Amino acid sequence: MAHVVVLGGGFGGLAAIHTLQALAGDDLDITLVDRGDRFFMGFAKLWDLGGIRPLDEGSAPLSRLSQRGVNVVRADITAIDAEARSVETSAGVLEADALLVALGAPSNSAHVDLLRAPGAHDLYDAASLRAIHGALGSMEAGRVLVALLGAPFKCPPAPFEAVLIVDEVLRRRGVRERVHIAISTFQPMTLPVAGKDASEFVARQLGDHGVELLSGRKVAGVDAGGDTRFVRFEDGSTAEYDLLLGVPAASPPAVVKDSALAGAHGWIEPDRRTLRTSFDRVYAVGDCTQVPTANAQLPKAGVFAAAQGEVAAANIAADLGVGSGATFDGHGYCFLELPGRRVAFVEGNFFAEPAPDVQLSEADDSRFARKQAYERERLAAWLA
Ligand SMILES: Cc1cc2nc3c(=O)[nH]c(=O)nc-3n(C[C@H](O)[C@H](O)[C@H](O)COP(=O)(O)OP(=O)(O)OC[C@H]3O[C@@H](n4cnc5c(N)ncnc54)[C@H](O)[C@@H]3O)c2cc1C
Repeated sequence: MAHVVVLGGGFGGLAAIHTLQALAGDDLDITLVDRGDRFFMGFAKLWDLGGIRPLDEGSAPLSRLSQRGVNVVRADITAIDAEARSVETSAGVLEADALLVALGAPSNSAHVDLLRAPGAHDLYDAASLRAIHGALGSMEAGRVLVALLGAPFKCPPAPFEAVLIVDEVLRRRGVRERVHIAISTFQPMTLPVAGKDASEFVARQLGDHGVELLSGRKVAGVDAGGDTRFVRFEDGSTAEYDLLLGVPAASPPAVVKDSALAGAHGWIEPDRRTLRTSFDRVYAVGDCTQVPTANAQLPKAGVFAAAQGEVAAANIAADLGVGSGATFDGHGYCFLELPGRRVAFVEGNFFAEPAPDVQLSEADDSRFARKQAYERERLAAWLA
């Protein structure tokens, strides 16, 4: 029986396993390797932050896949030999007839170090949530700064969603009038991926909630040694903070960077339509890849990782003699969640030429329900 090894049990890996099983049923031997034991969607962290729902309630154990015949290996992946389709893990070596790399993207380590400063937290790290809740829960007055530290970063709308959540939490506590809230971005506008109109829409939302927008500001450092804590920007300006919530850039996983799969910048650069790498029967999807669009790169978002995972799985099945394969056409969407449980979609054809054809939809509660359904349906299909 052909053996498919899936590296990473996140959006891309889980969507791929689901598709592989749907297409090839019991004809494939599937192994999933992940160092973690649970899956949850990135936006579940922000629902936890905003008090909508605790993180645990939106997560499910990867071990459930064992009941569906998947061999689940909880281990660190330490080396990938793409030529041989062989993987070294802390639990031993695995040989595959087809390999899917879906290892996500860890935070840039220099940015993580920067966020060890007093009063600073990594907004994207689930392990920081408790401390952020504590800081927001005890703040009576002062300054909150959400700072985007560099590109690429995951889920372009998420930092703007987060700063509006901070606003909401402080309003609920009745202290908002005494807290100055700002968000800084190194980019010239809020959401370049969605274009000027969508960026202006987001900027207006920030303005309506009294959030200061500092655009075109690249963080150069954090000075928190003295009485005043502040962030220094490359243009020489500074922003004081009492609470700093930083968004680190994503970086390629070390095990990918050290393998022959890595392109010039350390990311895997598969064919953007088939997700095939240059190695026979080796595929890569999701955040660990760099996929070009006409003017930038495909956003690092779970929705895209999952869509790519389904396509890669169909092509793996086809390589192994089942079905005729599939292609990813670049259509997709990101959620933009606004206060009051309203969601807008940043949606369109990200592969369109001469520029992505991406629009921002209206924000409403029916799209919030679609976002909830997206999570519920995927968790049920992938891990129930
Ligand atoms: C706050 C926040 C909000 C977000 N909101 C959204 C949203 O609304 N919509 C959206 O589409 N996306 C959102 N995202 C982005 C989304 O979470 C990621 O883009 C998505 O998880 C990428 O999927 P992936 O399969 O590529 O990688 P991941 O889901 O990160 O999975 C990678 C897996 O590989 C495992 N792994 C990595 N390295 C190793 C190793 N060496 N050994 C063993 N295992 C390893 C990890 O444990 C992990 O389980 C958000 C992200 C954040 C942080």
